[in-house]
Order: sequence, then C-alpha cells, then structure tokens
Amino acid sequence: MSSRVFYGSINHGQIAQFVSLAVKLDKIVEGLDFSSLTSKDKVAVKMHLGFTDGAQTIPSFYVRRVVEKIKETGASPYITDNPTSVYNAFHRGYTQETCGCPIIPIAGIKDLYGYETKINYMDIETMSMAGVLHDSDALVNLSHAKAQNNVGYAAALKNIGVGGYGGSDRWKKIHGVFNTVSWDSGKCTPEHAGKLVGSCPYEYIKYDKEEHDLKINRGKCYNGNCMECIEADGDIGCLSIDPEGFETFHEIIAIGSKKILDTFDSDKVFHINFLMDMTPTCDCMGIVQPQIVPDIGIVGSRDIVAVEQASIDLIGKEELIWSKIPPYFKHLNTDKSAGLHPFQRLWGPMKDPYLVTKYGEKYGMGSRDYELVEILPAEETMQMKGGHSFERGPSFA
Ligand code: SF4
Repeated sequence: MSSRVFYGSINHGQIAQFVSLAVKLDKIVEGLDFSSLTSKDKVAVKMHLGFTDGAQTIPSFYVRRVVEKIKETGASPYITDNPTSVYNAFHRGYTQETCGCPIIPIAGIKDLYGYETKINYMDIETMSMAGVLHDSDALVNLSHAKAQNNVGYAAALKNIGVGGYGGSDRWKKIHGVFNTVSWDSGKCTPEHAGKLVGSCPYEYIKYDKEEHDLKINRGKCYNGNCMECIEADGDIGCLSIDPEGFETFHEIIAIGSKKILDTFDSDKVFHINFLMDMTPTCDCMGIVQPQIVPDIGIVGSRDIVAVEQASIDLIGKEELIWSKIPPYFKHLNTDKSAGLHPFQRLWGPMKDPYLVTKYGEKYGMGSRDYELVEILPAEETMQMKGGHSFERGPSFA
C-alpha cells in the first residue's frame, strides 16, 4: 500500500503570504495530523543543529512553527541533538526563545546517557541508543536533506539512525563498518602499493609498509566517477572497488533507525524533510558550503521510507548547479545520459541515494511506494484570490 507524502514547493503562484512556504509547512503538519499527541506526551523534535560555523541547517523560523503545532495539542516538545551541537546552538540562532521550546542534549551532557541496544550486524553486537529518544513518547524527525560523502544522500534516516546514538558509537561503530576495502595483500608488493597510493589524486589511499596494510577512505572516494587506482592496479588485480562495499553504511543506519522507531507507538512518529539549501556534504562539517541543487521545498509523512523516497525523487528531477560545485570535485560525472541521480554525479554511482530506502524498506520501516500530495501548487494558487499585506507602517502584527 502506498504512503501519503505531503509536499510544499518553494515555488508559489503569487506574491502572497497565504501561499508561502511557511503556510505550506503549517498545512503539511495538518496533513500529518498531530491529533494522536496528548497532553501527557513528551515529544522529541530530533534535529541536527549543526556545528561551529555550519549555518545551513533548518532555520529556527520553520522549527518554531512545527513546535507551536505540537504545543497546540497540549504535548511538551523539546528539540534534541548531540551535546556539542546543543551547547553552541545559539551561535546558529537556535534558542528556547527562537524555537519555542527547550533544547536538550540527546544522550546527556557527556554523550553517555543511553540504553544498550542489540544490533548484531557485522562485528557490532550492541550500540547505545540515545537516552532522550528512548525515554520520549513521541518523535518529530525534522531533517535537512543534502548530499553526503558516505552514503550519497542524508536526511530522515540518517538523522535517526546515526544521530540517535551516543557519540562513541556514532563514530567508531557506525562509521567503522564502512571503511573496509577489497585488497589482496598477497598479490600486492610494497612497490605496487606505493604505485596505488600515488595513483589517487585525492590522497585517499594510505599504505602502512611495516604492517603491509592498505586502506581506502571510502567516505571520500569518488568510486565509479574516478577509478584511477583500479587503472593503476592493472594486471596485478589486487584491488577492487565494488558497489557492495558502499552498502554497509546504509544497512547499519537502517538497523539503528528501526531499533529507535520501534520504541514509539507508530501513530506518534512524524517525519519532515527540508529540501532547501542542499550542500555537497554533511551539516556536521561545521562550515557554510555552496548550494549544489536548487531549493525544492518541504515534504512530510508518517512513513520514513516514503518521505525519503519522495525527497530523493524530487532532488533527482533537478540539475546540479554546476557553477557552484567546489573545485575539489575533480571527478564529476557530467554525462546526463548516464541516468545518474545528481548526488551520484557528484559522489560516484556506487553512493546511490536510493540505497537509503532500499534498506529502510528491507527492515520494515515503510514503503517506497508513495502518493505525493502537493499542498497549494503554484498553478492552482495563481488563480486564487487573496492579496498580500505589505508593511506600510509599524503594525507589529
Ligand atoms: S577511485 Fe579514485 S578517489 Fe577512489 S580511491 Fe581510487 S583513485 Fe582515489
């Protein structure tokens, strides 16, 4: 059965407040229907609030509108994220005053308040689920969509599946499953390893001569857009870069997300993705980055897989803003006929954004089949009568 995804486009049919994106967000929330929340519910609004100088997360202007809608039900919302992001959130405009509710660290002030949760994936037996998510009655998953160097695309599932675990597990366990490489040490001499290291224009291959150990930084590798190391490997054939090697990160995110979502009643979970100010990589980089696809709007659903699938599809209809791609991307795929998603053209075909929803569906979190319900589409609203109030004097409205 298909899931409903509400969509508000950045585009509008006329210059008028009643068709603006802010009003569309209100209507998306109405469509999601917060009436399942009660005055007893403690509601976690899970966001990434950015780091240091990373100012392209969801503006507090929109956050506040969602928070106010939660408060209208009588429930008690609080925004939550990792302790560092929370501690300096005010640098990026997030305060109780601007957002309308408290902002609290997701796993305590030292990122150590969590619940050991069975994972059993590769060599990961358990991970520490963030205590605040575990203890909450309801979840509003408020995510900023963007391209991402490890998985091609990140929004709702990564916000929960990575951001919902304690710091040590986020970095060592979740990111750890990804940095594997298919390298046959027996076929490779130290001289050949040196050739492989030298072949990567980005210095993403490291070789430890003493240990005779070679590593590739998969998180940054441009895989199918590049393959210069594979060319250098030639007839020796000791190195391979396979699509399967890029899927482990998706799978651990899906497993981790499912564990968290299972702690909530299904009618108390809501997902809203902001397809705005989309950057080449994560909000956790802590810097302002160029916007690499045009703004699209906001999508919301009760189904985390459907909201991700709709987001990836909508981004897939856009063209990369070529003039804003940073010059360190030396291996872009500019061939439109290759049929790649814009984020694959950036990060390589093996970092396929749709793997997010493939694994989301595999672990039973929802459906890739969705019905897109557009709120106040521009073609319709340009026919509507309404008008706009211009600021002509101090009204304080
Ligand atoms: S595919 Fe390209 S970017 Fe990736 S490790 Fe090989 S040479 Fe480096």
